[in-house]
Amino acid sequence: MIKKKKIKLIIGTNNPGKLREIRDLLPKYLQIFSPKTLNLKSPIENGKTFIENSMIKAEFFSKKTNMICLADDSGLEIDILDKRPGIFSARWAGKKNNFNLAIKKVFSELKKKDNKWKNKKIKARFICALSIYWPSGKKISRIGKINGFISPKKIGFNGFGYDPIFIPENEIITFGQMKPKLKFKIDHRSKAFKKIKKFF
Ligand code: IMP
Repeated sequence: MIKKKKIKLIIGTNNPGKLREIRDLLPKYLQIFSPKTLNLKSPIENGKTFIENSMIKAEFFSKKTNMICLADDSGLEIDILDKRPGIFSARWAGKKNNFNLAIKKVFSELKKKDNKWKNKKIKARFICALSIYWPSGKKISRIGKINGFISPKKIGFNGFGYDPIFIPENEIITFGQMKPKLKFKIDHRSKAFKKIKKFF
């Protein structure tokens, strides 16, 4: 029997939470690498949109490794904060990736906008842009979104990032309280992934 050679793919993220989620969605015939396992630093994300930033990463890691690269850029948009933190979602956590700090900043920015925000439904959404860059130069991008609300308190220990303060639409618990399997079924990353699945 001829053994099929595995296709190498690098997932263009150094965020362990996202790496785990994306790896679980990919077909098993792919041999998966990450920038960390190859000792690669991430490029500067100086795009103006989630799509631009995900493509900057996909192209950078594909060109560095000569592999197909799947990269994501994601974040939280809060309507009354004029869609902030948006593409700056990771940066609100500071250099040490401290999400207690980022969540505190969300709460203080909301208080600045509206002192009574805790009694209101604060509309927000997670967005995920996924881009694939092939060594041939071919490239595609797709977006996935999940709407929801900001919880007035941090609740739950599952997931990562802003999960403990995001309540998805039609749910009563935060992503931080949700079993990972349920989160993956409905979240922005899996929605974007469904749109790019056909390219593998
Ligand atoms: P980047 O895509 O690496 O620039 O980082 C996006 C940031 O958005 C992450 O560091 C998280 O703070 C946040 N984020 C994106 N997706 C999620 C999610 O599913 N749950 C919680 N936070 C998320």
